[in-house]
Amino acid sequence: GSKEQVNINNLTGEYFKLAYNGLRAKDKTFNSALVTNFDDSLPLVNIVQQDIGRVLLNLYNNAFYAVHQKQKTAGETYKPEVVVTTAVQPAKEGAKSVVITVRDNGMGIPDNIKEKIMQPFFTTKPTGQGTGLGLSLSYDIVVKGHGGKIDIESKEGEYTVFTITLPVG
Ligand code: ADP
Ligand code: MG
Repeated sequence: GSKEQVNINNLTGEYFKLAYNGLRAKDKTFNSALVTNFDDSLPLVNIVQQDIGRVLLNLYNNAFYAVHQKQKTAGETYKPEVVVTTAVQPAKEGAKSVVITVRDNGMGIPDNIKEKIMQPFFTTKPTGQGTGLGLSLSYDIVVKGHGGKIDIESKEGEYTVFTITLPVG
């Protein structure tokens, strides 16, 4: 595909429900809060819509998988939650970027595998549930294809936050 001016809030919102419904179709008992925090003043971003869509879908699938896994072992007080936020950076002057963050309160990423998760074929999921290609493909799309970046913050057993930064224009 080729680049076009895209409303990131719309794209981000559409894939969110798609990913959630996908997991719910496989496990009807799975329930998670879906929280959206959209900046209404977000500028359009010049992206290959389908490619960034794939990046978002993988982030959501990973996030829902992580809260689903935690729900299986955590007590009844555990409330799965995935939060997606959009923002402009910097808010006022300078070359602008659009920032998308996907945060889940799932099982987190152990320190000893943090540096491996971007590698092609690295997965901690059972055969058939993960190819390990999602994040390496996302790196190609975001960093090489769009001049953006991907940042990861996670605490094992607590939460994971993926941040996608895309330059505007
Ligand atoms: P896959 O989803 O097929 O395993 P990815 O490249 O998308 O491949 O992710 C690689 C690995 O990174 C996952 O198997 C998992 O161990 C870890 N990971 C990614 N996102 C999360 C998350 N939100 N919470 C916990 N672990 C994650
Ligand atoms: Mg994945």
